[in-house]
Amino acid sequence: MKATQTNITFNTRIQDIARTMGISPRARHLIHGGTTNDLSTLKPEDIVTLVREGVLKDQDALFWLSVLAVQAEQEATHHEKLATIDELSGVYNRRTFIDTFSRELTRLRAKYDRNQYLAKDQPLAVSLAIVDIDHFKNINDVYGHSVGDRVIKGIARALTKSIRGGDTVYRYGGEEFAVLLGETNEKEAHKAAERFRTTIKKIRFVGMVGNKKKTFRITASVGIVVVHAEDIKKNKMTDTLIPIFVDRADAALYEAKHTGRDRVVMWHKGL
Ligand code: GH3
Ligand code: MG
Ligand code: MG
Repeated sequence: MKATQTNITFNTRIQDIARTMGISPRARHLIHGGTTNDLSTLKPEDIVTLVREGVLKDQDALFWLSVLAVQAEQEATHHEKLATIDELSGVYNRRTFIDTFSRELTRLRAKYDRNQYLAKDQPLAVSLAIVDIDHFKNINDVYGHSVGDRVIKGIARALTKSIRGGDTVYRYGGEEFAVLLGETNEKEAHKAAERFRTTIKKIRFVGMVGNKKKTFRITASVGIVVVHAEDIKKNKMTDTLIPIFVDRADAALYEAKHTGRDRVVMWHKGL
């Protein structure tokens, strides 16, 4: 969340509270950075003490306690968000991937159970694509770690731009990304993965070799696994399924790496 956006929401909410309580001048004072009457840095128990001692009226105490509550709520949201996002790339982190994948599998099974009520053209499948940058170690070696970091950010941005609504991007490891494609079967997953691969290839990065500026491009390999509702209907524990499907996507990725890189491979039996 951007800081300015947080402040706008915060100010709007405080103004609303103040307006409801009929104490807008005080709220305005707080919002415009006044300090004399600003009790927003106190603890709730201090405010209660001030009321007990007769320093603060009930009406004012209620207002300041509301301010503290809104502040605490926004901080909690901010921290929650920080815990789900990978700091370097700005996409979701691995923990969030596990949580979301687990939820997707549970939803897929529930949908399968209610299938008779659903439209027939909805694919009962979820796909996972693992995108791994090719020879990334070379990038660090040739251009330095900070350029490597910039490449990771660039790939995260490119993937985020080339997914459809409902799909999500995660940083799975160092230079590896996971993309969850909701309601996606083989044909669509392959199309999406090809789109990721070709989009990545087109990006131009800039680095220095000695004092010479160099433009370079990178490629990535993609391993896909498609999870059909039938594959999971009997298995109650989605947590035990996650490593199975991640391993399959990994096996497909390994195959892509060993058959030349810059390729998309879909998991199939025998890999
Ligand atoms: P392959 O084509 O087989 O995937 O080769 P690779 O060089 O991409 O793979 P390898 O696993 O050998 O190396 C990955 C490198 O990624 C090694 C590690 O130093 C680098 N790396 C991991 N995380 C980061 C990061 O956050 N920033 C940077 N700059 N490098 C990272
Ligand atoms: Mg790699
Ligand atoms: Mg890797």
